[in-house]
Amino acid sequence: MDLRELYQEVIVDHGRRPRNFGKLSDFNRSADGFNPLCGDKLKVYVNVDAEDVITDISFEGVGCAISQASASLMTEALKGKKIAHAELLAQSFRSVVMEEAAPPQAVDLGKLAVLTGVKDYPSRIKCATLAWHTLHAALAGSNQPASTE
Ligand code: ZN
Repeated sequence: MDLRELYQEVIVDHGRRPRNFGKLSDFNRSADGFNPLCGDKLKVYVNVDAEDVITDISFEGVGCAISQASASLMTEALKGKKIAHAELLAQSFRSVVMEEAAPPQAVDLGKLAVLTGVKDYPSRIKCATLAWHTLHAALAGSNQPASTE
């Protein structure tokens, strides 16, 4: 199995059986996100403690396998992490997927690297970044729905 097939398998698995799916019973941040290009819709729920640690995170939504897998992998990667780490991970992810300049302290993407293949499919990039836009809106306390447009 080559790397591409392995990546494909992880995306299909997370797309079919998303982790951390459903509304949190206890949360203090949330935001809606929408990717009009594909029709993907997400809602991200985050519980942040007084030390700025993401103690719990989940999402709900409908959309393509990439948008669901991206949100699923994001929630797995961020549970128990500090907000500052989440923002750095978001920037590092964007820099690879959107081929932007990497942040000064780019971090290892770990499992999220499976999604970086979308950079070869420009119409799918927003499917992969929607979860991160939505997370950003939730952490910023924005009442405006996040949109990839
Ligand atoms: Zn999509």
